[in-house]
Amino acid sequence: MAQLETDYLVVGAGATGMAFVDTLVARTDVEVVVVDRRHRPGGHWLDAYPFVRLHQPSAYYGVESRVLGNDRVDETGPNAGFYERSTAAEICDYYHRVLEEELLATGRVRFFPMSDYRGADADGHHVVSRLTGADTTVRVRRKLVDATYVESSVPSRHTPVYEIDPGVRVIPPNALVDLDEPAAGFTVVGAGKTAMDTCNWLLDAGVEPDRIRWIRPRDGWFFNRAFTQPLEQVGSYMQLQARWVQSAAACEDVTDFVHRLEADGVLVRIDPNVEPGVFRGATISLGELDALRRIDDVVRLGRVRRIGTGQIAFEGGTLATDPKQVYVDCTAEGLRPVSPRPVFETDRIIAQYVTIGVAPWSAATVAAVESSGEDDARKNELAPPVAFTGDTASILPIARYGMTGLMARAAVPELAAWNDRCRLNPARGASERLGDSTVQEAFTAIVTNFEPALKNLERVLA
Ligand SMILES: Cc1cc2nc3c(=O)[nH]c(=O)nc-3n(C[C@H](O)[C@H](O)[C@H](O)COP(=O)(O)OP(=O)(O)OC[C@H]3O[C@@H](n4cnc5c(N)ncnc54)[C@H](O)[C@@H]3O)c2cc1C
Repeated sequence: MAQLETDYLVVGAGATGMAFVDTLVARTDVEVVVVDRRHRPGGHWLDAYPFVRLHQPSAYYGVESRVLGNDRVDETGPNAGFYERSTAAEICDYYHRVLEEELLATGRVRFFPMSDYRGADADGHHVVSRLTGADTTVRVRRKLVDATYVESSVPSRHTPVYEIDPGVRVIPPNALVDLDEPAAGFTVVGAGKTAMDTCNWLLDAGVEPDRIRWIRPRDGWFFNRAFTQPLEQVGSYMQLQARWVQSAAACEDVTDFVHRLEADGVLVRIDPNVEPGVFRGATISLGELDALRRIDDVVRLGRVRRIGTGQIAFEGGTLATDPKQVYVDCTAEGLRPVSPRPVFETDRIIAQYVTIGVAPWSAATVAAVESSGEDDARKNELAPPVAFTGDTASILPIARYGMTGLMARAAVPELAAWNDRCRLNPARGASERLGDSTVQEAFTAIVTNFEPALKNLERVLA
């Protein structure tokens, strides 16, 4: 049995693992072994549907040490006026280069693809090759880093939980581009970002809205993309922060909180007559929203139980259907719900969200806190987990712990300075733009409302 020794063993080379390692090796002189059961870094992006793009601008996605994309503002198309958003192919290529040219080049990082982490025993941690079955024991001097805790669930690797009768065509969105026979109509199953991407792609590709049926058991709240812009447009992101903090300071409950943000234009929903029960932090533009509203055939009979050639059975009823429909399964959860768990434990780090959204910024923040030299209790104060459970109700704890962590890190000058210059922080550079009235106004609102917001959240959550 082969044996290795390292300071950190990182399981998972998706966006979380890569951002964590990149920041850790830049701030320390430690050795790291990274393992992933996939064949290269990039995580779920390696299996993404071909028309997927980042929800957010590339300008603050990826790792700290390397720019993703060209920080260009799109001039045409549905993203016109906003910073560019990478495709899955661009993201996968980027992570490959980060691995080769940034991480392995340090001489302190080793990467083992096609390798499954199988847990630890008295000999050490076990990593088994998916190609040869060889078991390697890894002795870890400092910590195991679980970069799989917020692992994404994507359609191509997901099996629908409902029954499908023989002869019914159910495909993941990945297979839409390979259809060899036109469909009588498309039924999109699912309520999240993948379903929205799929509907928008079908509409853009020329499918008439009346040929799309959308099974949407629960509606969601989404961030308006106009408020998530960085760099030259960072005033938009600062306005989001300001309105978030103002709403947190004034709200009576979660419904009041989301409705205040909706009134400000920060949060949006597809159907103003339906109260959304889902929040996963996804982002959408108003143009995409308008396009989605052209789809009238929305089915709200609960979750699908069975799809037959002539009938669909739901939790709340049945619906006649056409045997020539193509069903696009978009029921994989994307961002999986998690329970909050301390990030820093005695022998391990559970890499997870510690910022309000933006997976890579969270992972890099965890690495920055890890390298601060503080003990685990203090590190947990600096990076309390921000747990996305998928429910609208979780938005208040997300707000509370996101703001608590931000305040704790801002009080540590070295961490605050790191965060200010970190390219993964959407607010980067805002403090240098105080001449911009939207930025100045936002800072004033944030400073005025921050403590009242934390007090009010504590009260409302109690
Ligand atoms: C379509 C889509 C778009 C998104 N867009 C954005 C966005 O714009 N901005 C944003 O911040 N977030 C976005 N997200 C959220 C997303 O969760 C993160 O951006 C991020 O890519 C998740 O990375 P991850 O490393 O946590 O998980 P993953 O990408 O799932 O990576 C986890 C890795 O762990 C490996 N692994 C798991 N178990 C083991 C094991 N036992 N042994 C070895 N390896 C193991 C897996 O093979 C995988 O490669 C998006 C999610 C989806 C699905």
